[in-house]
Amino acid sequence: MRRISGHYVFTGREFVKNGVVEIDSSGKVAGLGSLGDSVVEKEHTEFFNGIITPAFVNAHCHVELSHMKGVIPRSSGMTDFCKSIVSFRNTDVNRQIQAMYEADELMANEGIIAAGDISNIELSLQMKKDSRLIYHTFVETFSLNPRHAEEKMSVARKIKRNFENEGLRVSITPHAPYSLSENLFELSVMEGNGSGILSIHNEESCDEMELFEKKQGKMRDFFGKDMDDFLNEYDRPLHRILKYVAPETKMLLIHNTHTDEQGVRQALNRNKKTVWVLCPASNLYIENRLPDAAMFSKLNARVAVGTDSLSSNTNLSILQELKILDTAFPETGLHNLLRWATLNGAEALNLDPELGSFDTGKRPGILLLSNVDLKNMRLTESTRVKRLD
Ligand SMILES: [Zn+2]
Repeated sequence: MRRISGHYVFTGREFVKNGVVEIDSSGKVAGLGSLGDSVVEKEHTEFFNGIITPAFVNAHCHVELSHMKGVIPRSSGMTDFCKSIVSFRNTDVNRQIQAMYEADELMANEGIIAAGDISNIELSLQMKKDSRLIYHTFVETFSLNPRHAEEKMSVARKIKRNFENEGLRVSITPHAPYSLSENLFELSVMEGNGSGILSIHNEESCDEMELFEKKQGKMRDFFGKDMDDFLNEYDRPLHRILKYVAPETKMLLIHNTHTDEQGVRQALNRNKKTVWVLCPASNLYIENRLPDAAMFSKLNARVAVGTDSLSSNTNLSILQELKILDTAFPETGLHNLLRWATLNGAEALNLDPELGSFDTGKRPGILLLSNVDLKNMRLTESTRVKRLD
């Protein structure tokens, strides 16, 4: 039995002052208490300066894009970012694979135990088999040409089968409301409804909002007239998703940089299982803007945190994302931020039976956060994360 204690233990839901987590010989949580409890006031308690928390869950990344680190200029806006992704996508395969293994290691070193990962091809399969992390792979479809819908779906289903055959978690999802023909969007959401989970980029950029509101702009100019088939049907990107998503599907909406209170309420009216996944470092990178985290918090909306990919981020660190949110939205509170990064992330990916909190029987991984401002319960620039188990 290991007993791990710190100034505070974050359970996945709340802080326990001078808390203690008991870990049995198989690595599972055996109990939770505080140093004041006689139950745990025993020898061999390891005490650490800082906060003990379950390991982080990265609810959104694209390991496939790891070789694009530092390639795309900052503040280029979404349309130019999409252009760059297309042009840098196909480089040397070995270089791409090596970059994915490095990204996986980077996440492990940042205390990340599981990740929701977007894949357009199956190049990440072997890395995911080898990884210490648990991945849920979202096989992502996109194409604005309605004649390509069936072919795109059959490719996605084949990739999904190959992941399934290796025992990996996988489902199909559409990329975003602006990048699929109406029939491919509907078919892809239906697949997600069948699997019970979707992960869709939503209301990420000014260009995307302008496209749906005004039916024109940089995105319309870049993607072309195929968009006109569906644009007139929707006032905003979110409405296209809500038309097809089933009420019982776990719906991860990614970014939401431009989502307002009305959007949150409309989504929750349609789907109570909506998870708002925030990736603030990526939003700052692409258009120097942040989602309204305080608004999501005020509405008690279910929030999780992602890093997005190294093409729009300098690191794959959930702690770094939390620092950005804590600085910009101090009213959110560290207990909420940590819940978003642990239990909510695990719930988003249906991994909460194993991960995300110190409930007895789970094996959530244990982190130490050091150099935290414990007086004000705020992260600092020098806050560090270390994996203890
Ligand atoms: Zn993304």
